[in-house]
Amino acid sequence: MSRLPVERLRQDFPALQREVRPGVPVVYLDSTASTLKPRPVIERLADFYLHHFANIHRGIHMLAEEATEAYEQARARVSRFLGAAEPEEIVFVRNATEAINLVAKSWGKTFLQPGDLVLLTQMEHHANIVPWQQLAEEKGIRLAFAPLTPEGRLDLEAFDRLLAQGPKLVAFTHMSNVTGVVNPVAELTRKAHAVGARVLVDGAQAAPHFPLNVQALGVDFYVFSGHKMLGPTGIGVLYGRRELLEAMPPFLGGGGMIREVTLEGFRPAELPAKFEAGTPAIAEAVGLDAAIAYLEQWGWEAIVEHERELGAYLLPRLLEIPGLRLLGPTEMTDRAGVFAFWLDAAHPHDVAEVLNHYGVAVRAGHHCAQPLHKHFGVPASSRASLYLYNTQEDLDRLLEALRQVVPLFG
Ligand code: PLP
Repeated sequence: MSRLPVERLRQDFPALQREVRPGVPVVYLDSTASTLKPRPVIERLADFYLHHFANIHRGIHMLAEEATEAYEQARARVSRFLGAAEPEEIVFVRNATEAINLVAKSWGKTFLQPGDLVLLTQMEHHANIVPWQQLAEEKGIRLAFAPLTPEGRLDLEAFDRLLAQGPKLVAFTHMSNVTGVVNPVAELTRKAHAVGARVLVDGAQAAPHFPLNVQALGVDFYVFSGHKMLGPTGIGVLYGRRELLEAMPPFLGGGGMIREVTLEGFRPAELPAKFEAGTPAIAEAVGLDAAIAYLEQWGWEAIVEHERELGAYLLPRLLEIPGLRLLGPTEMTDRAGVFAFWLDAAHPHDVAEVLNHYGVAVRAGHHCAQPLHKHFGVPASSRASLYLYNTQEDLDRLLEALRQVVPLFG
């Protein structure tokens, strides 16, 4: 049994005490889409709004100073969490999607030339495909997608062959939101740097689940969303190495991001304000601070161990369900607790509906990864995903409900 006091921490999540009907409590297995929020995060948000809120950076009064301090404290926490060299390398944005768009539309537009190659992979979320396709249309850059093995891992030999073509940027996910595959970021980054490419890593699924160190990984850009790690919606993070962020033009223009404006033009502010035009998501950043503190309070080791135990329990039992095809590796090595599957008996939406009847919340659809579903030859899947508040009992409820689906649809 893991060291994580799961029963105790579950008390922090009132949503887990909800019932779909009397006597049938909710089993939440949809954390990959977004996680539930614990009381300490909500209480921090409420306290901030009730007692400390004002617009930041611009006021010389008590509340403005307190709000500014809380916002910058959040940046410092994120910087420590990511192992960045300094808080100025942390830019607050709305979500991982916006962070990738910022890099594409600022760095990409400035430093990529027509014909330059951007190397992605076939396991990317649409957030790490579409901004590059837009840039390809706009600037005539070329895109290549590293293929996958049949079970959905990156084909490393094919990746090396594509690297030999000299991409200017390699952008890939740290952890897949469909297969749960965890990519060897440090190794891929080292290889990409060896051919002179910059590296962007989509950490939307990794940041919630394991401790990170962007300097040890060696990456140039790293992005994630607060709402997938117990934080509020509307707050995300772009980490970029100072030297790169400094060379990039602002993405959005307006208040907050300038040093000086005249009728003739403007001079941008220093980092990170240069990339934070307009009033930012102040309270949401404070909420993210509380979310990271909450996770750290239990300890990453205990969280990782707990999720690994749950995954190791669920995986072989899922594979025993008749007609179930897993989209992803069938053993837990280098994969995390995300399990997308196809059931021969029923469409994923019908599966999700039946599971909901038994109180089990899963997601159905293409999970914003249509090319990856094409790789597996299915249009959609059902997806169960684990987080620190899940228990073995949750998984038994899922398995029991899944066993009901097959006879129901024949
Ligand atoms: N990247 C991955 C791997 C994801 O799973 C997601 C969301 O599911 C995103 C990016 C986009 O996150 P957001 O919608 O918070 O911008």
